Parts: sequence; structure tokens; C-alpha cells
Amino acid sequence: MSKRLAILGSTGSIGVNTLDVVRAHPDRYTVVALTAGKQVDRLAEQCIEFKPAIAVLSESADAAQLESFLRARGSQTQVLYGPDALVTAVTESGCDMVMAAIVGAAGLMPALAAAKSGKRVLLANKEALVMSGALFMQAMKAGGGELLPIDSEHNAIFQCLPNQFAKSPQASLGVEELWLTASGGPFRNTPIDQLDQITPEQACAHPNWVMGRKISVDSATMMNKGLEVIEAFWLFGLPLEKIKVLIHPQSVIHSMVRYRDGSVLAQLGQPDMRTPIAYGLAWPDRIDAGVAPLNLTQLAHLSFAEPDLERFPCLSLAFAAAKAGGTAPTVLNAANEIAVAAFLDAGLPYLKIPQVVEEVLSAMAVVGADSLETTLSVDAQARKAAQEYIHSL
Ligand code: NAD
Ligand code: MG
Repeated sequence: MSKRLAILGSTGSIGVNTLDVVRAHPDRYTVVALTAGKQVDRLAEQCIEFKPAIAVLSESADAAQLESFLRARGSQTQVLYGPDALVTAVTESGCDMVMAAIVGAAGLMPALAAAKSGKRVLLANKEALVMSGALFMQAMKAGGGELLPIDSEHNAIFQCLPNQFAKSPQASLGVEELWLTASGGPFRNTPIDQLDQITPEQACAHPNWVMGRKISVDSATMMNKGLEVIEAFWLFGLPLEKIKVLIHPQSVIHSMVRYRDGSVLAQLGQPDMRTPIAYGLAWPDRIDAGVAPLNLTQLAHLSFAEPDLERFPCLSLAFAAAKAGGTAPTVLNAANEIAVAAFLDAGLPYLKIPQVVEEVLSAMAVVGADSLETTLSVDAQARKAAQEYIHSL
């Protein structure tokens, strides 16, 4: 029977790639909800093609525009707007699976709703897990649904872990370490004294992956890998010291698991998000993802190196926040979101991004992240502190 899918963030890079896989399998998947922030035209096209029951935009004026466009074309799609409507798209659309692909903390509430209601959650929105990992994992457990990581590294690790691992992460099953690979982004070799000149366009031009702007900047600073270490910590339940980062500029090995007996299992593939998306959609089956086969003889070589923490201070900040635990990752994530937005849209110099994050992390006391109220309030305070610090510069 066809599985019913809700896509949160359908107009973004992950959302569009998800629809590309779904388009090739009309007998397997039915799209029942699509959501976007502000991209009315793209969402309108998607609604005409996929005929969801519910479509959501952030603002009421945009929703009115979409509604009149759809009505004029005889579409039955119900158009809603605002943060609560994102939750409605999960709980009222009759979906079995939710692709959580909104960028940033804005995706937390609908992702939590999907977790609580026992859906299969395809998690791309790593910020949701970083800001509230304990709560999110508890919600998944209470809901009883399946959590499939879509982030390519975590999807790779999921594929390399034993099948039983997801059911009993406490039992080590011979797993010693997880190795998250990282391309090192566009500035891996840029002389350090030129980093202060970097523009948003340069930061968004990733050598191997085409992604949304926020994650592209995070990849350039390597904050992305830091967020991914925290994401892996929650997803796989291993101690932090067993989660390692390895620079691998070719982005062919998407991550690895080292076992006690000396075996290292790796997942290889093209740097194309349709592979992990198709894996999450079809698991435990495998379906065609529209991805070109990997040709290893055409690759000159695969290389590996330790990350340079002086070049990538955001990675150290993320390690420190992960180690501190509690609300520290919530603060890290919030300050980073504000700093990246200021770099992209308000002229904050590139090298000030880690400075903003460090300042806010050191200014805010770490407390236990044991309730949603605390998490949301710390997130709001950290955003405010980051804004104030940026204005003071
Ligand atoms: P993107 O910017 O291309 O798309 C983001 C989507 O979220 C869009 O549909 C946008 O309209 C929507 N959105 C943004 N702000 C919103 C708000 N306030 N309220 C409601 N909707 C909002 O981003 P992306 O590259 O697709 O990344 C999405 C998520 O997936 C991120 O968390 C990112 O870290 C993660 N991810 C992306 C990739 C990738 O290759 N793009 C890889 C791994 C993980
Ligand atoms: Mg990734």
C-alpha cells in the first residue's frame, strides 16, 4: 500500500530532492502535506503536481495568494499558515511518514509532533536534535515510531551499524567508534589570513554538495560537523569520545563505523542527498534514487586528515558545548543561527561567526535541558544575547 508522506520544508534543497525521489515512485508514495516558509511560487507548483491535502506557508498574506492561485485551478488543497499549522500538517494530514527538512529551530515543534505521534520520522533538520536531543529522543520512544537519519553521515552510520543496534543502542555490539567524514568545505586550503575577506557567495559555493544557504555556511565554518557530532551522540547513544571527525575532501565515503575486531565499515556513494532520502523512505527496502552509479576507477584517490581546529574554531566550540551538555548545545545552535543569518544578510564578517557563538556560550550558564519550556526559553535568550552582541560590534 502507498505510504502517505508529509514534507516539512518541501521547497528547500532536501524537500526538492525528496519530491524528486517520490516522483519516480508514484505507486509507493502519496504526498499528503507540503510546507514552506516564504516560497509561494515553488510551493504552488508542487501543490499542482502532488495534490497534497494540506499546504502551509509562514505568513497569512502568502497563504491567501497561494489559496487563490490553487482555487483558480480547481485544487482542493487546504492552505494554512503559521507555526501551529506546521504541527497540523503532521497531525491532521493522515501521514505515515514525515520528512523533517525545515532549516533551524523553526522545525522543532512539527518534528516533535511527528515523533510523539509515532510516525516514521526522516530527520534532516539536525538543529532540532541539537537544541533538544534528550526531549526529541524521549518523544520518539514514547511515540514508538521509527527514526531514520537523512543527514548523509548519520544515514551512512545507520547503514553500517548492526540491524539490532537501533533497538538496543546500549549494547555495544562490538562498535568502538563512529567516524564522521567532512569535506572541509570551500576554505579547507584558503590561507588563514584571507578568511576575513570571505563573502556569503563564496561561503555558499560548496565544492561537493548543493545545499541551502545556512547549512552551506555551517559547512564552510565546520559548525555543521560540530552539530553533526551532537546529532550522532543523540541518534546512536555512544559516548562523545567515541565520535570522531575525519576530513575527507572527496565526499565519497559518507561515514564509517569501527568495530572491536578491527573491521571498519563504510558507506560510499555520490554526494547526492537522494541516496539517503531514498534509503529513509524505503527502509528496509532499497529503491531507485535516480543517482548515478559510483565509478571508483574514475576517482583519482581518497584522502583523509585530522581537522585543523585553529582554522575551524566553530568545531572546537561545538565539541565544548557537547561536552558541557545540558542547554549548552541549545545555546550553541541559537547563537550560530543568528550569527549565520547576520553574515548572510547583514554584513557580519565571516570571522565574527565563531566570536558571536563563543561570546554567547560563555555568557550563559548551562542548566539541565529537561523540559521543552526551558529549552525554548534558553533558545530565545541565546538569540537575544547574540543579536545584542552583534549590534555592539
Ligand atoms: P533550505 O534552506 O534549502 O530549505 C529550508 C526549507 O525550510 C524551505 O522549504 C524553507 O521554505 C523552509 N523554512 C525555512 N525557514 C522556515 C520557517 N521559519 N518556518 C517554516 N519553514 C521554513 O535548507 P536545506 O539545505 O534543505 O536544509 C534543510 C535541513 O536539512 C537543515 O536542517 C539542514 O541542516 C539539513 N540538511 C541538509 C542537507 C542538504 O544537502 N541540503 C544535508 C544534510 C542535512
Ligand atoms: Mg551532513
